[in-house]
Amino acid sequence: MTRPLSELRSPVRALFTDVDGTLTTDGRIEASTYAALEKLGAAGVPVVLVSGRPAAFGHAFMTMTPVLAAVTENGGVTFIREGKQLKKLYGVPAASLPEWRRRMHEATVDVMAKVPGARLSSDSKYREVDLAIDWNEEASLSKNDAETCVTLLRKAGFTATRSSVHVNFGPPHFDKLSACMGVVRQVLGTDGNDLSPYLFVGDALNDAPMFGGFPTSVGVANIKHWWDELSFKPAYLTERPEGAGLREIVEHILANR
Ligand SMILES: [Mg+2]
Repeated sequence: MTRPLSELRSPVRALFTDVDGTLTTDGRIEASTYAALEKLGAAGVPVVLVSGRPAAFGHAFMTMTPVLAAVTENGGVTFIREGKQLKKLYGVPAASLPEWRRRMHEATVDVMAKVPGARLSSDSKYREVDLAIDWNEEASLSKNDAETCVTLLRKAGFTATRSSVHVNFGPPHFDKLSACMGVVRQVLGTDGNDLSPYLFVGDALNDAPMFGGFPTSVGVANIKHWWDELSFKPAYLTERPEGAGLREIVEHILANR
């Protein structure tokens, strides 16, 4: 049973947040949202970004913001800090990537032939492990067409998951929940199998495994859009959507310390 965020009582040691539709509002990070994250960091609660966006975004976030770590490409590539260095952790063996790449481009051609209007997302060029079919960012496919892409790609042997904007697909056997457990072990220094001290917040279908894995999981209000399709529901729900929902969480964490 999903409860209102106001009923969350336990303290939160770090915030794991999705980016699109959670950190962003209408596709932009509002100044007030960024300020809320800075305030949280200043209070000693670090922020980990967890996104389906390309590794290149993760590199930029790590370089230009104080985030502790960035999980990108749905767990395909994770950035952590080691002193002044950025370290990359891959969700699949890096040596296998060129061959997967070739197969993924072949699959893209097949999907484009079978689903009119489907095309690679404009950020696919900056991805290392996965690729993305744009269904709802610059393209406007129906949910059904997006699901057809998911089915075709899974049949071709890839993992495929639909976010609010893209259908991400790639080699099997990597996921963002495992990547987050790695961040917990390597950076936060606690048992990666115990995610209970940490809060995850997200807004879409591709966050469902995270809602299943994090005991303290929160959906921002816009997740109601996909509610019936969620295989795992978040434990808590904010009152407001997108960035406003994230700010609600930050205020709640700070008030409950
Ligand atoms: Mg999202």
